[in-house]
Amino acid sequence: MLLLYSVLGLAFGSFLNVLIDRLPRDQSIAYPASHCPSCKTPLAVFDLVPVLSYLLLRGRCRYCRVSIPLRILLVELSTGVLFGSLWWFLGPGTKLILSSAYFSILLVITVIDLEHRRILNKIIYPAILVSPFAAIVYGASAKDIFLGGLIGFLLMLLPYILSGVGLGAGDVKLAAFIGIFSGYPAILVAMFGAAVFGGVAAGFLLLTHLRGRKDPVPYAPFLALGGVVALIWSEQLISWYLGFY
Ligand SMILES: [Zn+2]
Repeated sequence: MLLLYSVLGLAFGSFLNVLIDRLPRDQSIAYPASHCPSCKTPLAVFDLVPVLSYLLLRGRCRYCRVSIPLRILLVELSTGVLFGSLWWFLGPGTKLILSSAYFSILLVITVIDLEHRRILNKIIYPAILVSPFAAIVYGASAKDIFLGGLIGFLLMLLPYILSGVGLGAGDVKLAAFIGIFSGYPAILVAMFGAAVFGGVAAGFLLLTHLRGRKDPVPYAPFLALGGVVALIWSEQLISWYLGFY
């Protein structure tokens, strides 16, 4: 069953690719049907099999041979791995469905931020609106949800105001969204994790001269990563931390 749910994740990843392609360009996600962005040939069913199509075609369009971005494959694989891990950690049930949707939103936001340096309001606002209800069904108390959202918002607002470059208002909204869904105290794990991941990545990019000191680094991927860690391991991490005292 874990395998079946992972395969479902691969297929869902194809749909996430459509969202990632079309939402930033203000295109409809339903129409037209999937087609090659270069030669416009509509894709047949056998071009749309997740992962396999990409590998069999060696990352090229069957009709015009233009290369298909590696991201298509990576998003499909990531969604499969995320869905599989969630089944592993949570087992079947409501929590599985909710957290799969949550991770999917985080993945879409991450990839769009990497490609366009934007966090789209048409994704983050509906996400923030729905997340309190999702968190209640997930089992959090109203107080923890409110506190989580507030702490995420404030912890990101300060660096946003202080930092001239790099962070955007979208990062603040994203932190609030992650805070609402993970709740308090898990949001602390998420924000701390994001800062650590972001710091390590920034240090690596500076040391290897891949990025200069002034180049903005998208922060959404690190927030999302912190959110993933917090959802799965926050209880263990917090009790481990409190064990020191
Ligand atoms: Zn083509």
